[in-house]
Amino acid sequence: MFEKEAICREREFKGEKAYQSLKALIWNLRLPSSFRVMLIESVLVPTLTWACELWGMQEALSKFPQKVLDSAVKGLVRLRRSASHTGADVVALEFDIMSVHQMASAARTRAYFKYPQLKSAIAQLMRNVPVTPRSRGLWSLETHIWLRQHSPHAFNRPPYQAVEWVKKDILSAYARSKRTTAHFKKYWDYHLSKSRDYVTQAKGFIRDTYAISCLHKVRTFAVLEGLRLAPERYQFRNNRCPCCLQPVPETIEHMLVTCPQWEVLREETGVSSIIQQISSGMRLSSSHRRDAVQHGVVPGSLKYESAVFSYLVGGTRSSSDRGVFPRWLLSKPLRHRDQILDQLGTAAPVPLFVVIARHCAILLRKRLALLRRNGIVAPARANAADVGMAALPHLPQVAGPGERQGEQPPPH
Ligand SMILES: [Zn+2]
Repeated sequence: MFEKEAICREREFKGEKAYQSLKALIWNLRLPSSFRVMLIESVLVPTLTWACELWGMQEALSKFPQKVLDSAVKGLVRLRRSASHTGADVVALEFDIMSVHQMASAARTRAYFKYPQLKSAIAQLMRNVPVTPRSRGLWSLETHIWLRQHSPHAFNRPPYQAVEWVKKDILSAYARSKRTTAHFKKYWDYHLSKSRDYVTQAKGFIRDTYAISCLHKVRTFAVLEGLRLAPERYQFRNNRCPCCLQPVPETIEHMLVTCPQWEVLREETGVSSIIQQISSGMRLSSSHRRDAVQHGVVPGSLKYESAVFSYLVGGTRSSSDRGVFPRWLLSKPLRHRDQILDQLGTAAPVPLFVVIARHCAILLRKRLALLRRNGIVAPARANAADVGMAALPHLPQVAGPGERQGEQPPPH
């Protein structure tokens, strides 16, 4: 018998070694993200899923290699695995990287349907399965039972189609389950995966690589929102936006769509005209108007921020929508000649995702500088020239309402 758990722990160990050797490249936001995803998929994933036909379809076992994959995936937006900004599931969805459980189960499905058709000894083994009371733990029987239970559509199809069904069923089961993170739900509700193609198209805009990395951060919510600032900055967590000081919690939607602090920046980068197009373009016909009211695109309505945000970053409000906002993506993939033209600076008008990516890059930089100036976020440690090596300033403790009352030491 195989010790499946031992195999999986070994995969985790080997994968960690591979990840550490790639880490400097994966974390580098100035490399095109499609290249960094390729590194993960062609070096790390094969290491993690070695022999996964044996241990696939068992989610408890996949969690060992999954830990390493989570670290690598979060590294794509420069976050540690333990960072609570966003979940690894969101980032994986953005870059279309499957979970280890998905990949391993798909590989096992393929083996189950493919091996009997081969001309080698394995086909004989697969065909002559002894059916006895002791055959419960058999590989093929286990596979059959799992498929019946979790992906019944996979039967009676060619292996390559069965594999696709298994991948899809596992993902939709995960999206329905209670194990998803809050940001995964947001990503799923905004239908952001419809515009995932921009990761590939971004290869044509090589000078905007860093800006596009910032767009990844915004789309996967990997930004330190005011809601998630340190606990000692309690007054900014729910009550006020730390940038405009208005009494609204600072979310990423507020930052991008309505925060008055960045109004001028939105004018400069052309994002405010896109926002206007979004909020007025929906009123063309009465049915569009009804849609817009229903989904809250009308200014002043409660859902205005999130509705505009979803179109702005390439999502839609309902699955029946025609798709992402017009001109958000390139209508056809770039050819090599266009890429050269772009490098010479004579290319045709850029698609909206590049405009928004540039905006996000400036916004995130200016916001961080503002927060540091106001002492809300500690300055980077490496600015020894300005403030000396120990750059962390003294942050006065601000107690939240009802907090720190019980922490007094008891009197003796
Ligand atoms: Zn604000």
